[in-house]
Amino acid sequence: MRKDLETKLCTDFPELYANFQYKQFECLDGWYDIIYRLSANLANIISDHDDMKPNIYTAVQVKEKFGALVFYMNRYTDEIDEAIAKASEESLRTCETCGGEGKLLKDSWSWRTICDGCEVERERQWQRIKAGDSDAGPPMGEMDS
Ligand SMILES: [Zn+2]
Repeated sequence: MRKDLETKLCTDFPELYANFQYKQFECLDGWYDIIYRLSANLANIISDHDDMKPNIYTAVQVKEKFGALVFYMNRYTDEIDEAIAKASEESLRTCETCGGEGKLLKDSWSWRTICDGCEVERERQWQRIKAGDSDAGPPMGEMDS
């Protein structure tokens, strides 16, 4: 994810991301809105509980896995579980690249949630790379790595 988006998440939810460093949001920018809403939910859940002192409940890792958003906390409650499950469900309908309406595509080496337009673009880029076009740039999904 773009560094300015990561910074915004860490700045707006300092307790949730107290133990985060850069590059711990291992997904593309299209899911930023989902992650932002989930972060707001989790921050509310955490602050609603007296026994949840700041920095006791923190995010550990956020990533894409098998085409879905995965959000790891250092510990969970039922409410936290539910909020994360809802966001993960939403990610399976949201293009990870652009944030538009997407669907899960699978082939032998990659699972991704992507919209038709981004998939066409992605395929075109792969063809250029396979053809040895050195100007094609990195494959989509690996731009930030
Ligand atoms: Zn898209």
